[in-house]
Amino acid sequence: MKNRQTTERYTLADLENWQTAAGDIEPPIRLAVFGDPVAHSLSPQMQNAALRACEIGMQYARFHIRANELRSALRFLRDLDFIGINLTVPHKIAGFTQIDDADESASRAGAVNTIRVRDSRLIGSNTDGEGFLRAIRNEFSVDVRDLRVMLVGAGGGTGHAIAWQCALENCERLVLVNRTYEKAQALAERLRPYFAGPRVLGPAARLEAVAWEEAALRAQLADIDLVVNATPLGMNPSDPSPIPARLLAPHHMVFDAVYGPKTSLVRAANEAGARGANGLPMLLHQGALSFSIWFDREAPVEAMREALAL
Ligand code: NAP
Repeated sequence: MKNRQTTERYTLADLENWQTAAGDIEPPIRLAVFGDPVAHSLSPQMQNAALRACEIGMQYARFHIRANELRSALRFLRDLDFIGINLTVPHKIAGFTQIDDADESASRAGAVNTIRVRDSRLIGSNTDGEGFLRAIRNEFSVDVRDLRVMLVGAGGGTGHAIAWQCALENCERLVLVNRTYEKAQALAERLRPYFAGPRVLGPAARLEAVAWEEAALRAQLADIDLVVNATPLGMNPSDPSPIPARLLAPHHMVFDAVYGPKTSLVRAANEAGARGANGLPMLLHQGALSFSIWFDREAPVEAMREALAL
């Protein structure tokens, strides 16, 4: 059976029997995204378009890997000649502890979304922060450094990367919100040195962790320009909006890292008369940066954008 089509989703069992599962696939699978859930991921269509545009004879595939399978799955990358992978929900923080080396972007965030295999070593990077920055610039024609940002989901891998990027940009103000408040508080302590200077006029503190409670959010949102969701809320059509429409106002820019036709947060933004954008542009830019890491060359961004119909 030559030129067999790739499967919609591979598993750890497939990695364990790779020759049977995918040994005859042409071009061979050498790149992947590991996640749980992973069926929603648009990375394969975007990265495969990039590989074709650059005439690289490889494919990128989806792998449904559960949290307790990550360590075993990562072990196969070296032996099966993978170039690298992306990690998505919920593996970014756990993945950081399971690699051989980390670059600065990954070490800072304590989270990994890109792994490259070099000389049998797994080297972790994080392109989410920079991808986020580019997405905000493209979608709203503003720079994060000029904004007062509220980040919901500050305890996760994506939340960490975005929070660190905001700190490095020295944004005007950063408010960290998380279901488990202690995680937002711990992150705020690590970021505090970046917000030592007095930049915001008025009484609002430049860096705060706040409880995920309506009254606290309402009070904070008066001094916020950009609201960011880095929780998975919105991945399912029935999910509630992480911030309800009644708390949003027309002056807010609302960015949902989740991508989908119209996420619950983007719908809430529209209802409130605010500008809203979903995570597709971030997916594009973080993916282009991952491609550059794997192949030491510029990514064909336009081919990737076209594949996402952006
Ligand atoms: P993660 O590491 O599992 O982080 C989950 C975060 O969301 C934690 O802060 C967690 O809070 C919070 N959370 C989880 N379920 C929640 C719920 N039901 N209600 C409230 N908070 C909840 O996940 P991740 O990898 O960072 O990914 C987060 C989302 O960002 C995913 O939907 C992913 O698809 C999206 N994403 C998009 C892009 C893009 O390019 N567009 C890039 C990266 C990620 P606790 O700390 O309390 O558990």
